[in-house]
Amino acid sequence: MVSAPSGTGKTTLVEALVPQVPGLEMSRSYTSRPPRPRERDGVEYNFVSRERFGAMRDAGEFLEWADVFGHLYGTSAIDTRRHRDAGQDLVLVIDVQGASQVRRLYGETVGIFVLPPSPAVLERRLRRRSRDHLTEEELRRRLAVAQREVERMADYDYVVVNDEVEECVERLRCIVMAERTSWRAAGAAGEDIARAFRNID
Ligand code: 5GP
Repeated sequence: MVSAPSGTGKTTLVEALVPQVPGLEMSRSYTSRPPRPRERDGVEYNFVSRERFGAMRDAGEFLEWADVFGHLYGTSAIDTRRHRDAGQDLVLVIDVQGASQVRRLYGETVGIFVLPPSPAVLERRLRRRSRDHLTEEELRRRLAVAQREVERMADYDYVVVNDEVEECVERLRCIVMAERTSWRAAGAAGEDIARAFRNID
């Protein structure tokens, strides 16, 4: 799970990371938010109406869901299970509320919190982006939410400061590699080899 205040650049980092790591996929969320210019249904998100989202939520189709800036976002439980069954690692780029729901459900999650280098840098990035779609009021709201989200950093296993994109992607790649070789993830395979050693006369 990768969380970060809006405007930190987490999606850019994860989109750069995924092609570099075999067996790693990015989850595609459902949202009731309307698409921004250049966003396509089924690519960045599965865009659905608020009504459809509500029906899916009531039918228990979401692993987690949250209201973020007045729009609904959720991770499909079936999609997630399909990836797990296929033995793939799935990256969920979700907000802090969603991450805490998933953490409660599954022990095997790894949480990464991406921090902007400073509040000033975040504001600058949001302003640059705001030319696209954010009003001044929405921007203020995002900064206020960022202030609260940063306080949840300690709930995560790793913290990555997004100062330089390539370096950050490399840090994320190292985290995936380290987690894949952790006792929790790779212990069973290690045990098989240890058993073979025990069987040597
Ligand atoms: P945006 O609309 O700017 O793409 O995303 C706004 C926020 O919603 C971001 O913090 C993003 O991580 C979060 N988000 C996107 N998809 C999901 C999801 O499936 N679940 C949750 N809980 N948050 C999500």
